[in-house]
Amino acid sequence: MRLVLLGGTGAGKGTQATLLCERFGLLSIATGSVLREAIEARTELGQQVSAYVDRGELAPDDIMIALMKEQITRPEASGGWLMDGYPRTAFQAEELWILLDRLKQPLDYAIWLEVPTETLVQRALERARADDRPEAIERRINVFQERTLPILEFYSYRKRLLRIDGMQSPEQVHQQIAEKVEP
Ligand code: AMP
Repeated sequence: MRLVLLGGTGAGKGTQATLLCERFGLLSIATGSVLREAIEARTELGQQVSAYVDRGELAPDDIMIALMKEQITRPEASGGWLMDGYPRTAFQAEELWILLDRLKQPLDYAIWLEVPTETLVQRALERARADDRPEAIERRINVFQERTLPILEFYSYRKRLLRIDGMQSPEQVHQQIAEKVEP
């Protein structure tokens, strides 16, 4: 099973990613964590992206698609995977679509965790992290609204979009997703 999780920072993607990966034996690919680990370890990737992550800006697309390709072709990804944090723009969605087509790994679902903006801001403020300065939070949510919403159209048009009400309890959200994606 190959899944993409969509939703703003604070929509509950992390929690749902963990539950879904456990249930279906998927490799979790969380771009934010991969990038932050790379920054901490001062790898080449980390140095390339640290300024973007600090400002809450999106890292360059060519870096991101190369990173995604590397992740989904890992042996651990052969039983399926779940992306949390990619794609962030319609362009990234298209790049991924082309890559998956080439790798003959079609996407099963793009799962949209629908949560109101006020709730996203509130949840983000409650999650204190090194790069979670209020300006960075606001910037991230703006970036999300400007650039991520067209992704929904992209997947909706291709009949892959699964809309889920993210305001339910984490268990309820998980149950709803699992029922719909269960093979
Ligand atoms: P996150 O933890 O998912 O909110 O990601 C933290 C930061 O990593 C973002 O603010 C971006 O700077 C960067 N990032 C994560 N995913 C992507 C992506 N798909 N494209 C570009 N930048 C990303």
